[in-house]
Amino acid sequence: FNTERFGQHILKNPQTAQSIVDTANLRPTDKVLEVGPGTGNLTVRILEKAKHVTAVEMDPRMAAELTKRVQGKPEQRKLEIMIGDFVKATLPYFDVCISNTPYQISSPLVFRLLSHRPLFRTAILMFQREFALRLVARPGTELWSRLSANVQLYAKVDLVMNVSKNNFRPPPKVESSVIRLVPRDPPPPVEFGEFDGLLRIVFGRKNKTVHANFQAKGVTEMLESNWRTWASVNNVMIEDGMNMKKKVEEVLQETGFSESRPAKMDIDDLLKLLSAFHDVGIHFA
Ligand code: SAM
Repeated sequence: FNTERFGQHILKNPQTAQSIVDTANLRPTDKVLEVGPGTGNLTVRILEKAKHVTAVEMDPRMAAELTKRVQGKPEQRKLEIMIGDFVKATLPYFDVCISNTPYQISSPLVFRLLSHRPLFRTAILMFQREFALRLVARPGTELWSRLSANVQLYAKVDLVMNVSKNNFRPPPKVESSVIRLVPRDPPPPVEFGEFDGLLRIVFGRKNKTVHANFQAKGVTEMLESNWRTWASVNNVMIEDGMNMKKKVEEVLQETGFSESRPAKMDIDDLLKLLSAFHDVGIHFA
């Protein structure tokens, strides 16, 4: 195991660790999932407030240290340590997720949490600052991106605090920030693959028009192939001389988004566009 590869930067500032845990507003009945507990600087503080903690840790040496830390204490029976990779682990039920994870798994962590059922109440997550700022970015600002839109479709996210690298041992190369993520309940009835598929095209070149992004190489071909699949599954006759480019143009004209810039489109705009495409049988996944 290697510090950089597993992102083992331990949070050494006790005030920072305490603020992160306080931000979660834990209730005595809460079951908490912690990803990458390390030596347990957050874990021991979570254990004080919650009913149960499942901590997923990939490095057995870290897990051993954490075990030692609670051994013989009343908290011991509230803690379950799962040794293994979070990305592959079977997750238990949890109300709250708290994590200062290695930044290599930032995206998989967020998307795994968003697809987890039943929905949890809130997640408090520390990320590399740039990634955190992209998660919370609003339409029309520089960091608004496919990531922002995908995450904000399913959750409310906001920035909780900035944490400088001096809070860690060893200090990482980058600055960090903590965000709060609250899933939208009920979740919007939109398939992730469809929304993300549309975003891939629309955000191809963020400052070009939607129309221009649909002209990009391969897009029409892909939509045509999706359309054929959709048509055969739904027993729709495949029209002779079906013109996908024209179909797409029509949707963009009707919805009025043809000349829009994705950099300024909000989630509602993107959902309207997706639904207009679906109405004519055009699919993105
Ligand atoms: N949470 C502790 C803290 O704040 O002091 C440790 C933070 S350290 C940045 C990240 C921890 O995640 C390390 O203990 C590392 O071994 C663990 N880890 C790395 N990759 C992981 C993975 N895929 N699944 C679970 N744990 C992982």
